[in-house]
Amino acid sequence: MVALRIGIDLGGTKTEAIALDMSGREVCRYRTMTPQGDYAATIRTIRELVETIEAETGSSGSVGIGIPGTISPKTGVVKNANSTWLIGKPFDRDLEAALGRPVRLANDADCFALSEATDGAGSGAATVFGVILGTGVGAGIVVQGRLVAGPNAIAGEWGHNPLPWPTDDERPGYECYCGRRGCIETFLSGPGLARDHGGSLSAAEICASAAPDCEAALRRYEQRLARALAAVINIIDPHVIVLGGGLSKITRLYQSVPRLWGPWVFSDHVETIIKPPIHGDSSGVRGAAWLWPSKTT
Ligand SMILES: [Zn+2]
Repeated sequence: MVALRIGIDLGGTKTEAIALDMSGREVCRYRTMTPQGDYAATIRTIRELVETIEAETGSSGSVGIGIPGTISPKTGVVKNANSTWLIGKPFDRDLEAALGRPVRLANDADCFALSEATDGAGSGAATVFGVILGTGVGAGIVVQGRLVAGPNAIAGEWGHNPLPWPTDDERPGYECYCGRRGCIETFLSGPGLARDHGGSLSAAEICASAAPDCEAALRRYEQRLARALAAVINIIDPHVIVLGGGLSKITRLYQSVPRLWGPWVFSDHVETIIKPPIHGDSSGVRGAAWLWPSKTT
């Protein structure tokens, strides 16, 4: 009998685990360092976290895991992970063997979107686009409470589309690690904002500064985010867009971006709501737990 939903968020430096009871209430939470470059130790760490939770609560749980990457439907192994020691490994099957139960994996942006759509800022909305604006830029799409999972396992990977409607000075754009140029991520990630400002300050320092050059960089950032989200609205027309990641803490975005996106949305009126996250940094681990929705447990 499954009485808990256990979520694991495997980050680049730390791994967090949470247990939710069947009503979604947090029962316990643990955090440990992610073993660097060691695949077997990563599996062991996750197993120990699950064992610790189950020993403490006296209950067993379903297990969902958020990873910085995704399992390729074609090959069955991890791709697109910046925790490179996972790449090429059948991580889900190895975890199932270690834990003795089925596990569900999703990338961290998908977990964020699912968490906010289930009982966060997008709760009750039919369609939620959850965006991570952090070291990288990613997103997940939740429709009727379910993550959209396409045949390539890349739904929401909008950060590697080109910045839409670029101005002359935004072309051809910076090189991206994905091999292309001018990706949305190169403009809207934290490092992207810092580089756009000139590279002398971090994104957090730019946001905290009242200097005119910082204000100008933030205005360019808002303008670009508005264009990038307008392109999303034109394709999936989400009811709610939830921002996450470090840059979602820039409170002015929630007023400025809806004022700016109108000219690029193919509609006479834009009803789309843009919101900050409710669960903040906990959204990844909560979303991993929600990979097992109530209907199937
Ligand atoms: Zn890219």
